Amino acid sequence: YGDYNQKIDYVFKVVLIGDSAVGKSQLLARFARNEFSVDSKATIGVEFQTKTIVIDSKTVKAQIWDTAGQERYRAVTSAYYRGAVGAMLVYDMTKRQSFDHMARWLEELRGHADKNIVIMLIGNKCDLGSLRAVPVEDAQEFAQRENLYFMETSALEAINVESAFLTILTNIYKIMS
Ligand code: GDP
Ligand code: MG
Repeated sequence: YGDYNQKIDYVFKVVLIGDSAVGKSQLLARFARNEFSVDSKATIGVEFQTKTIVIDSKTVKAQIWDTAGQERYRAVTSAYYRGAVGAMLVYDMTKRQSFDHMARWLEELRGHADKNIVIMLIGNKCDLGSLRAVPVEDAQEFAQRENLYFMETSALEAINVESAFLTILTNIYKIMS
């Protein structure tokens, strides 16, 4: 009882990685609860949230993990990556440095994760278009070279957030089913 008769066919663990303040926690809040808070506190302790969706008439529980203020290089532990079948590599499109760090986040991810992990590059804060510091072409080129899906999002204005999560989850599903 208490499960509303919901049969879960798959559980997919997806990890969020990227520099501090790029909007990882707000992307998760937007996707899991359709919330956004302007003064979001730095996340304390390893945390995940779940959201159940239906793909191809199968019930998929997405378990999305958010870093615990461990965003310094090599501070994210291997437990965080363990069992992950998807990863979202998030940068802030108004902060060039957060994009330049994607290569080493990717290297760290590939060092820890399963080789079949589905990876998506996310340029967040696209609502701040006038402050853009990362041309879309640079991100597309990086994504193509590294074989990543790519999307620009805004957690604030709920642009492409659902779409980004559904894209990664659907592609994980195609591999797992
Ligand atoms: P995290 O450290 O990567 O988890 O980043 P947070 O989710 O805590 O967000 C850091 C800051 O960026 C907060 O002040 C958020 O309100 C802000 N923020 C997050 N997403 C967006 C977005 O899509 N647009 C704008 N304008 N601000 C955002
Ligand atoms: Mg956070």
